[in-house]
Amino acid sequence: MNYNKKTILDVDVHGKKVLLRCDFNVPQDKETGEITSDKRIVAALPTIKYLLENGAAVIACSHLGKPKGEWKTKLSLAPVAKRLSELLGKDVIFAKDVIGEDAQAKAAALKPGQILLLENTRFHIEEEKNDPAFAKKLASLGELFVSDAFGTVHRAHASTVGVVDYLPAVSGFLVAKELEIMGKALDDPKRPFVAVLGGAKVSDKINVINNLLEKADTVIIGGGMAYTFAAAQGGKIGQSLLEADKESYALEMIQKAKDKGVTLLLPTDTLAAKEFSADATPVTVDTMAIPDDMQGLDIGPKTTEAFCAAVKGAGTVVWNGPMGVFEFDAFAGGTRAMAKALAESGAITIVGGGDSAAAVEQLGFADKITHISTGGGASLEFLEGKELPGVACLQDK
Ligand code: AMP
Repeated sequence: MNYNKKTILDVDVHGKKVLLRCDFNVPQDKETGEITSDKRIVAALPTIKYLLENGAAVIACSHLGKPKGEWKTKLSLAPVAKRLSELLGKDVIFAKDVIGEDAQAKAAALKPGQILLLENTRFHIEEEKNDPAFAKKLASLGELFVSDAFGTVHRAHASTVGVVDYLPAVSGFLVAKELEIMGKALDDPKRPFVAVLGGAKVSDKINVINNLLEKADTVIIGGGMAYTFAAAQGGKIGQSLLEADKESYALEMIQKAKDKGVTLLLPTDTLAAKEFSADATPVTVDTMAIPDDMQGLDIGPKTTEAFCAAVKGAGTVVWNGPMGVFEFDAFAGGTRAMAKALAESGAITIVGGGDSAAAVEQLGFADKITHISTGGGASLEFLEGKELPGVACLQDK
């Protein structure tokens, strides 16, 4: 995939009505609807401010949650408009619909330096279906499309891809940064390139493991998925997570690493427990000989040391997926040590979205990481080497 896409710096935005796809899919309190973290709104500010300060009129749009084509008051973007207005220190005009009369009238009246936020794009079932008529109407509100919602670029929806049939399209600063950093790490990494993969399931990461074995010098596999690799090699893994139908794939990957000369590191010891619980007592056991009544919930001390040593000498580290059940303090040690190793490595460090990003933030290492991706699914597909439709459709440089 070509990551070298035009950005807002490569086009003249002055006097233009810019349709800006943001990621305002903010977490909300289930009861009150209150925004519990405005991080995504804050992250959108540089692009918005640049556009407004450079004479554009911004028509922002986003999805929020999964309304599946229904108009759900709880998933209205009105609270986002309010918070965005506070953060920008200026009025954010809010449209009561997405492509309806209100949106059209407000978009038509919008002046340079003003910003309008449309209602939740997913209130229309046509959004996720990438319906051309809906995309055309949405596109008709603006003259230039700016994609800045990295979290949804792996989805070919009307507001991420469909509108590009009708408007010139470039990236905003957030998407540009993701492409620059992750694209470079995959295409031309500073070596040694170490990939750290964890999380629950092998099946979720099959293509990531496969792709990174083509690119990395060392691949580290921890988390629940490591036990399928142990079982595949004849290990006894007790009650640990197992995907029996992925054992042959695990063996294939072990062989692929050998063929490619890639160092594949798997856990040698494990912190196991009798129950899957925060209060369970951790016991260190051999990963290949986990007692029948126990399950592996974190990497053990020897493994932690070996994994962290591999990260220490790296030029580039990409990390996706926790090393254990980090939600339980007693089993967060491996993930915590890995976060610290990345933070102290001096390498270019990239953390995929989702759980590993949450872990790095929760453990207080976020500011020492080169780049924390804003997209969980999107960054996973990036690491898989898949073409991201919301990126592919943007203009090449
Ligand atoms: P993923 O979404 O695939 O990155 O998986 C993240 C989840 O994997 C987290 O909720 C972890 O608690 C879970 N996980 C990591 N290691 C283990 C393990 N050894 N056993 C069970 N769950 C695990």
